[in-house]
Amino acid sequence: MRFKGIVIIEFNRELPKEVIERLAEIIEELNNKVLVKGVRNVEEASKIINYKAIENKLQLEIEAGRQVRIHNAALRVKNHLARTLGPKYRLGIRNILLVNARIELEGEYKVSLKLPFVKNLEFKNGLTIVYLDTISESELKKPYIDRLLKLLREKEVRAKWGGKAEHWELIKESKIKLTPPPYTEDPNKVLEEIGFIKRFAIGQWFYTPAFTYFINMAKHFLLEEVVKPLGFVEAIFPKMYPLEVGLKTGHLKGTINAMVFASLPISYDISVYEELIDYMYVTDSIPPEELQKYVKPPSYFLCFAQCEPFYQFFSREVLEDKNLPIKMYDHSGPSFRWEAGGLHGVERVIEFHRVEIVWLGKPQQVIEIRNKLLEGYEYLMDKVFDLEWRWAWVTPWYYEQAGIVEKEEERKLDINRPGTIDFEAWLPYRGPREERKNWLEIGNISIHGTKFTEPFKIKHNKGETLWTACSGFGTERWVISFLAQHGFDPENWPEKPRKYLEEHPFPEPVRGVTYPKTAKGRELLEKIIGFYKK
Ligand code: ATP
Ligand code: ZN
Ligand code: MG
Repeated sequence: MRFKGIVIIEFNRELPKEVIERLAEIIEELNNKVLVKGVRNVEEASKIINYKAIENKLQLEIEAGRQVRIHNAALRVKNHLARTLGPKYRLGIRNILLVNARIELEGEYKVSLKLPFVKNLEFKNGLTIVYLDTISESELKKPYIDRLLKLLREKEVRAKWGGKAEHWELIKESKIKLTPPPYTEDPNKVLEEIGFIKRFAIGQWFYTPAFTYFINMAKHFLLEEVVKPLGFVEAIFPKMYPLEVGLKTGHLKGTINAMVFASLPISYDISVYEELIDYMYVTDSIPPEELQKYVKPPSYFLCFAQCEPFYQFFSREVLEDKNLPIKMYDHSGPSFRWEAGGLHGVERVIEFHRVEIVWLGKPQQVIEIRNKLLEGYEYLMDKVFDLEWRWAWVTPWYYEQAGIVEKEEERKLDINRPGTIDFEAWLPYRGPREERKNWLEIGNISIHGTKFTEPFKIKHNKGETLWTACSGFGTERWVISFLAQHGFDPENWPEKPRKYLEEHPFPEPVRGVTYPKTAKGRELLEKIIGFYKK
């Protein structure tokens, strides 16, 4: 990314001869001192490459890299000149303007022409050139230009990272445990066939008491053996979030294509709906296009990452050492994701359930808790559910803190810093473990650094840095991977789940003349329920 443009500095009077004679020297000083201050890589700083004095104006042609942006350069030049020339030559600076500014990006990008300051776009020799309107001093000081630059830089980085497969680096894996795999059925199919789950709508299921039993078993081990012993305490987070929350977390910018939105009715006065109600009476239908006329534009999105309310809760709060760290978990309700065509059984659904674990503290505290939680997860995967699992570092470009996205080749893996670890389990029913597509992400754990404490303004009373972290335990997915690897017969289960079954009576399954639907399903149900009712 490069910037070019002309900075015009307007003085209160014509530039005196002495100043014009010293101009070369002044420019050199600006280039060698002022514009490179605090810059690691001089290539990335700004540089005046041409200059001209006309009457009371000084025109500076500036080129800039990423580190001293051209708008910052303009302000730096102004301050320096005001300080050094002002008193000596009685020169005041009346105005500064940035004209003919343009930003060059490597690669071709779409940039909205509706954005403030963006005048035009051009694609040339593999470059995208963004032409900007004239920018005044007061506009130079506003955050728009910085945000525009951040957006453009993200487009570049996204193209670089997103062009390849998603980042994925193995950190740890279990032993190979299932050779040959003792069970190769798709548990999603079996669960539907025996009526433990029933389709409700696209990507949504009704979980009968029998399937709920498995959901609760998975949560039981997580909560009782890992989460509570580490001092996390249960809270109930809201599940419908105002749009501003998603703007601050970044989800609306990053994953808007997968979010489900909610709208409020246009009025509480039922008479307003009379026509629509009449229509439903007579036609027994409700065309969504008609309904749309009676609801306001969406003002909420439904629970997406599940930890958003935690950051909103602490927004603008000030915490001191003795309050920290703060550890909570929530499993009070579902999350919603529009998964388009990727739905499968209960392992990829639109409405799913998750235990979300969130914590807040000083960086060292956050890292220590994450590491203890990792130990807990390993125990859960190995000693409780006896899974074939693996962990990967998957930090995507947008999680990297601003300005420190390194070249991939130079990147050394250090997990004690902001980033995400995904947990995966092998699903034998899908195929051999050697193929990536046969593994399922069952959960993850992220250190966010200041990604949320900054936008939500979560502060420490002595100004120390605060970090957050979270971990999502996708309950359906843990159940599916357990059943996919060990099957439905407890004879083949590891000890802890078997014992759980002894101590927690299995509920009666739902049976009816027409339920489960097929004779084969009814037969299989009796066989499987026989295992649990011994
Ligand atoms: P995937 O890559 O499989 O789509 P994801 O990266 O979108 O997963 P996250 O955003 O990291 O998932 O969500 C955290 C956890 O929530 C996942 O590890 C998984 O256990 C669960 N999860 C996410 N999406 C779904 C879904 N559509 N159905 C069921 N569980 C889900
Ligand atoms: Zn989270
Ligand atoms: Mg997903």
